[in-house]
Amino acid sequence: MKIVRGKDKKEKRIRVNPDKLNMGNTYSSPPQYYYDAEFDCVDCGSHEIWTASQQKWWYEEAGGYFFAVAVRCRECREKERERKDDARKNHKAGLKSK
Ligand SMILES: [Zn+2]
Repeated sequence: MKIVRGKDKKEKRIRVNPDKLNMGNTYSSPPQYYYDAEFDCVDCGSHEIWTASQQKWWYEEAGGYFFAVAVRCRECREKERERKDDARKNHKAGLKSK
């Protein structure tokens, strides 16, 4: 079912699929929709938009914890990931993988 409300409404929303959410240990109920969210990157201060579809992917496909929010722009996220990958590699040297 498609609900069209107003015209050219900037707000973009995507329905939440609660069955796929990783809600952790909480009893609060999830919102019904994802909305584009604005934030400032914690590393470089760049103003970014975390779109509704990115949120859906993160929460429902990537299994991200539902109350985790985006704090870094794409560039800083990639840097951070490289940093973590390096740390993991070093860590694995002395640790058997699960
Ligand atoms: Zn950044």
